[in-house]
Amino acid sequence: MAFPTGTHIGGVRTLRDLYDRCVIDKLTGCYRIRKANGKPFSESETPRVWFTPENCAPSAKRLAFRLAHPDKPLPQTWVVLDTCDTFDCIYSRHLKAEPRRDRIKALTIEGVYRSATKTIALREAGAKRSRVSPEVWQWAMESTQSTRVVGHAIGVLHTHVSQKRIKHRQAHMVMGVSA
Ligand SMILES: [Zn+2]
Repeated sequence: MAFPTGTHIGGVRTLRDLYDRCVIDKLTGCYRIRKANGKPFSESETPRVWFTPENCAPSAKRLAFRLAHPDKPLPQTWVVLDTCDTFDCIYSRHLKAEPRRDRIKALTIEGVYRSATKTIALREAGAKRSRVSPEVWQWAMESTQSTRVVGHAIGVLHTHVSQKRIKHRQAHMVMGVSA
């Protein structure tokens, strides 16, 4: 049977559909969301799924939270986070919602997040952009731990680690070809 134009194959309608797209980690109980083709998401992207009833692609975590708690309001100013530190886990029992403002406050205390004002003030005060030594970066490139864990360990954003890793891998690929 053919599909009419505009059909999104692999879209989801219900929490059950979402869970059917997951691989369950027996150890942690995490439901790790997979793409419609069954492949895992990259750690540098936010897993999104096509939500057929609304014809849009929200974050899978946010959608799972909404579908699991249909009567709880979820304002745009709130963020949905995992409590298990697994970037692609969408198991509703591992998710929590909180105001974005609170999240930024918590990250600022942890030293992970810096406001633009703080960054400019630090730069003007002569602070270096990064205090991570080349040896530490080398370790970060070779570590098999997730970018989040590594980023937290060396005090930089996980996206920064992820970008460095991509460049590192590309450099090695080029070397591999010429060698
Ligand atoms: Zn989980």
